[in-house]
Amino acid sequence: MNANQLAEFGARHIARGIGRVSNLVIDKAKGSWLWTVEGKKYLDFTTGIGVTSTGHCHPKVVKAVQEQAAKLNHAQVNIFYHKPMLDLIEKLKAVMPSSKLDTFFFWNSGAEAVEAAVKLARHSTKKQNIIVFQGSYHGRTIGTMSLTTSKTIYKANYGPLMPGVYVAPYPYCFNCPIYKKLPDKYNINNCCNDPIDQIEILLKQQTAPQETAAMLIEPILGEGGYVSPPNNFYKELKKLCEKNDILLITDEVQCGYGRTGKMFAIEHFGVVPDIMVMAKGIASGFPLSGIVSRKELMDKQPPGSMGGTYAGNVVSCAAAIATLEVFEEENLLRNVDLRSSQILSLLDKKLKPLLPPQVNLDIRGLGLMIGIEFKGVPYGFASEVAKESLEKQDLIILTTSIYETIRLIPALNITEEEVVIGIKKLCKAVEMVVK
Ligand code: PMP
Repeated sequence: MNANQLAEFGARHIARGIGRVSNLVIDKAKGSWLWTVEGKKYLDFTTGIGVTSTGHCHPKVVKAVQEQAAKLNHAQVNIFYHKPMLDLIEKLKAVMPSSKLDTFFFWNSGAEAVEAAVKLARHSTKKQNIIVFQGSYHGRTIGTMSLTTSKTIYKANYGPLMPGVYVAPYPYCFNCPIYKKLPDKYNINNCCNDPIDQIEILLKQQTAPQETAAMLIEPILGEGGYVSPPNNFYKELKKLCEKNDILLITDEVQCGYGRTGKMFAIEHFGVVPDIMVMAKGIASGFPLSGIVSRKELMDKQPPGSMGGTYAGNVVSCAAAIATLEVFEEENLLRNVDLRSSQILSLLDKKLKPLLPPQVNLDIRGLGLMIGIEFKGVPYGFASEVAKESLEKQDLIILTTSIYETIRLIPALNITEEEVVIGIKKLCKAVEMVVK
């Protein structure tokens, strides 16, 4: 079958519910590059939505996986310990935002880990309700789609959903009603504190503190727009949680694991969550996720109430250990900072001049989690740019759920030269769509 026939076969036999941004049939990948079955080469600024953190098929990760696969494929966590999980924990403990976060539970996917966090919060507090934030994405299982608020399509006709979920506004300064009154660009250092007031109102009007187990938040909003909250927000949120005896769960599935230039995004804000959720970049593409918390919280769960057939798979744990070694050996966090500054400065110089004066551009994010929002463009503009990039520039980029926003999520070891190539392609695509 040729590439078109393969794609047609896929369309016929793979569930239609999986939306797909392209019909490309991928054959192989290396670093920041992907090749189709026809041998066409693409620059990947998506990394599978922040998964292949060390680039595609990093030799160290490949070697670790090959060696582990030849030795032991599966050791069920409800039956055995396995050494790669114990070694991984040792390594993870060293990169946690606080030494108090020292007890782990591993799963396969981000959604499962979010659910594990909710189970832990409910069980350990003996309370039920969860406060989530507008625009968040936490997964597509029944539990996590109940917590997700980024797009209606995820929930429509899939109910009934999990009850006890309350939605608070996510601080989004660029689209803040107060910002609209400000003459200059919004100031992320100086929030009006309105989002905190709104949560206090929620606690008074809809879900009382004695019924609320946790607040669940993405430290940097992912699918909902690549939004960084104002600098003071998390300190205030944590204070509010402590005052009301509510746990703080941070979902670092997309923004964590070096993506923002620190190992975990919440570290930028000087706050330690009670439960932290990790996945995606943790094992460079192999299925692994997990939660971490304090031992005294985790110990409240009775043995046997957690676990799963593939939870913390041994091959994925080997990939995760190799991933952390690559972080150290190649100083990935430093590369994230360097490439981030390079992208921001290139966008400032090359992208801004391409847009008509009525378009207000917000380039935001931290590290290599960069959002570009265009305000004052027709509906669908960002999707058009992504389409043009893919079809004419051989650059793969994604948009976010609402607002005209593009997200750039390259590999954490992307090179200076690849950044130059990628931003040139992006600018070309924008130029074509503006015309
Ligand atoms: N949380 C966040 C913040 C995510 O971005 C995602 C995936 N995009 C998930 C949870 C769900 O992860 P998974 O697709 O592995 O279930």
